[in-house]
Amino acid sequence: MKYNALKGIHDIYPPDISLWQHIEKVAADIFTVFGFQEIRAPIIESTDIFVRSIGETTDIVEKEMYTFTDKGGRRITLRPEGTAPVVRCYVENYLYNLPSPQKYFYAGPMFRYERPQAGRFRQFFQIGAEAFGVAEPKIDAEILSMLKLLFERLGLRELCFQVNSIGCEQCRPGYRKALVSFFSDKLEGLCPDCTRRYELNPLRILDCKVDSCKRVRQDAPRVTEHLCSDCENHFGSLLSLLELLEVPHSINPDMVRGLDYYTRTTFEVTCEHLGAQNAVAAGGRYDRLVQEFGGPPIPAIGFAVGMERLVSLLKSSGEQNIPAPRTFIAVLGEDAGKQGLALANRLREQGIWTEIGYTGNSLKSQMRRADRLSAEYVLIIGDEEIASGNCKWKKLSDGSQGEIALSGVLAFFQ
Ligand code: ATP
Ligand code: MG
Repeated sequence: MKYNALKGIHDIYPPDISLWQHIEKVAADIFTVFGFQEIRAPIIESTDIFVRSIGETTDIVEKEMYTFTDKGGRRITLRPEGTAPVVRCYVENYLYNLPSPQKYFYAGPMFRYERPQAGRFRQFFQIGAEAFGVAEPKIDAEILSMLKLLFERLGLRELCFQVNSIGCEQCRPGYRKALVSFFSDKLEGLCPDCTRRYELNPLRILDCKVDSCKRVRQDAPRVTEHLCSDCENHFGSLLSLLELLEVPHSINPDMVRGLDYYTRTTFEVTCEHLGAQNAVAAGGRYDRLVQEFGGPPIPAIGFAVGMERLVSLLKSSGEQNIPAPRTFIAVLGEDAGKQGLALANRLREQGIWTEIGYTGNSLKSQMRRADRLSAEYVLIIGDEEIASGNCKWKKLSDGSQGEIALSGVLAFFQ
């Protein structure tokens, strides 16, 4: 019987894993210098947590959640995103009593029952960050410049930072009214989902991916024209801070994001090389969520980077980051095999990545393996070398070679 992973769910293994680890390391380093600390929330939560925060009429909640009933009859969902679990953790553990701001990052798998296609999977990984306790747009700008730095460090440039403000509880109702009146005589042109959204959550029509809906909404009122003065000032300051921090950006007034919890700032980082699924990171402010989860009224903002899309961008830019051993010890004969093994052990104890050949294999096949591993050096040990106490070394990149005392090998690599 041959088994396969579930549809839309992929294994991650060498050599790709090196790229994943590289990204995770660079991200953790950058987040750390911005004062973010890692948080590890569970992968499963009460279904309610996602329904209440993401919103009942969003695609994620309506169509995409992996939900089941456990043996105790509880409704449980595999997390479709990372913000709600972090907010739940923040409130449950009274982390708001710590000095503000509190800044966290996370990395891990998310689950959404979507139609698998390029850049869209049922299990996918996100690296995200959340900052609690600052209402002013400075932190929005900091977060965007942190993302910019992350992509730069990874060697990615041609990215577009799109920003928008979707208002607050003061101005949203007015905008909602404007949308309702705009769509009221255009309902025939909308998809069945959007006719329902029209009644329940008209803002969601702006996020619909159906072509006819995109056409119908072309001249819809713009949220940026309906902001209250506080939201307008907030957005204006953010834009000037982005200039200050040299984060190239464009305003996209159509970007409302697919989650209901956002207020004010929303943003997406897109890259044309990704094709249809071109968003590599996305996020926004969620000033009401902590309170909705039973905490005090604490503003917050966060984002998530889609790992698979980032990995595919790095791969197409030629980045491989495949690690290679410092040395490969080729051995000829029984005694050399043992000496080689002992030498490998001493090198490994010093943190030097060492591979060894096995005596059953010819020198030629051992050299081939060293080459395939891209080992930096090959050491060759045979009976002759043991007798003389010296061994041959060869540097594979330029073919240079020489001899060193077996007792000096450790020092040679240190
Ligand atoms: P999209 O518009 O592409 O569906 P989204 O708005 O649903 O994205 P978010 O919930 O904001 O995405 O997630 C942030 C990032 O996570 C996305 O920009 C994307 O890079 C990645 N992502 C989201 N869903 C998937 C998925 N099913 N497979 C792979 N990556 C995903
Ligand atoms: Mg989506």
